[in-house]
Amino acid sequence: MSSAKTGDPANTVEDEGYILVPRPTDSRQRNRDCSRQDGADQAYLACIDQFVETQKDVLWPLNLFLHQNPELAFQEHKAHKALTEFLWSAENEWTVTPSAYGMETAWVAVYDSGRAGPTVSFNVEMDALPNLAHACGHNLIATASLAAGLATAEVIRRHKLAGKVVLFGTPGEEGYRGGKIRLLEKGAYDGVDISLLSHPGILHNSALVRTAAFARVSVEFFGQAAHAAKAPWKGINALDALVVSYNAVSMLRQQTMPGDVISLAITNGGGEATQLIHEYAACACVIRAASASRLDDLEQKVGASFRAGAQATGARVEISVTRGYKDHIPNRVLAASYAHCWNALPGVPDPPMPPVTPGHQHFTWILSSTDQGDLSYAMPSVNASFAIPPGPGGGQPHSADFERASGTREAFDRALRVGKALAGTAVDVLSRQGLLATAKRQWQEDMSQEGQRRLLPPNEGLSEL
Ligand SMILES: [Zn+2]
Ligand SMILES: [Zn+2]
Repeated sequence: MSSAKTGDPANTVEDEGYILVPRPTDSRQRNRDCSRQDGADQAYLACIDQFVETQKDVLWPLNLFLHQNPELAFQEHKAHKALTEFLWSAENEWTVTPSAYGMETAWVAVYDSGRAGPTVSFNVEMDALPNLAHACGHNLIATASLAAGLATAEVIRRHKLAGKVVLFGTPGEEGYRGGKIRLLEKGAYDGVDISLLSHPGILHNSALVRTAAFARVSVEFFGQAAHAAKAPWKGINALDALVVSYNAVSMLRQQTMPGDVISLAITNGGGEATQLIHEYAACACVIRAASASRLDDLEQKVGASFRAGAQATGARVEISVTRGYKDHIPNRVLAASYAHCWNALPGVPDPPMPPVTPGHQHFTWILSSTDQGDLSYAMPSVNASFAIPPGPGGGQPHSADFERASGTREAFDRALRVGKALAGTAVDVLSRQGLLATAKRQWQEDMSQEGQRRLLPPNEGLSEL
């Protein structure tokens, strides 16, 4: 994940494009927070903490195996085998379905208490990047979710809680094909109440992560070839249509909203011949926006620019849009639980995570995208970001430096800490009367038109939250 936008300037500082949110500085306040009864019950959290510590020796080699065997999207065969076999042999009894929902490398593992209650879930990402191996640290995401799932199952067993925990092996997050979206469309998440996930970086520990919605727009212009010297008037210049469009898009960029990004590339400039009026040209653009509805508006505006180029020159234009991922809307009720658990666990990394309260709901905006965004439109979701010690070059995700950083023992330890906090959130939902209903009410509000308006980018209303 890369750059981001500013939040409330009174309370935030921009750092490498990310937002640093205000942190609590009074340790007595933090201690009071830890003893509150509105976070995960301390006994459960202690149980989670201790249990995950006992799993370190088995999870470390697994984490290392994933890191050392990077596999591209939807080709995560080694990871699929290692993770499903691990769960088959896990202490608590998991029902494991390999190659689930028609995808070779998707899998599902369920731990069922046998008593009716909420169904909590964690996504296990596995894929790596072309030429950059695990430079997005998905081995750490897998480790965090696995630790969380195992710990939640253990608390269910020991404390006889009602409900289920589901681990989803979700292939193909990189790119725009979205394994989670495919699982969602095939009904894998039917009956699941919440979805929890995390993502590593080098800057932030945040429970309130918003990511961008994106789509790819492919454009072709069809003109009429003619000799450029002898009879140019007989031609229709497709390259001219493209250039007019390019300029229109460039001007559009002056009036976009915070969070809007338009990246435009010429994929076919009509060939190298200089004596011809070009009969064909093509371009592609990726558009990003802070919300799925804003992305629709941006798509209309960009489309108008391409049609303008065609209109001006008489060329014919064909525009095709490939949907990417929706923006991620973090559920603030679950995020409050996660932040509380993070700060209540021993050894809080500095700075502590700001508690999520009605007065403190500043999002961390990240302009990259994830298919967890689509899940956040289907159910309450958290996609917590966590910082690992950076490599020598301080490289962010999708750099060779971050690939090295994501394979260290320190990064693994941090992922386990994330797993504990995710488990604390899940156990909160399983054990606290009314919490799930509150999270769902928040989700419904976020999905409403008014809720969406409140979730516009920082300059357009974040300070109202
Ligand atoms: Zn990535
Ligand atoms: Zn990633």
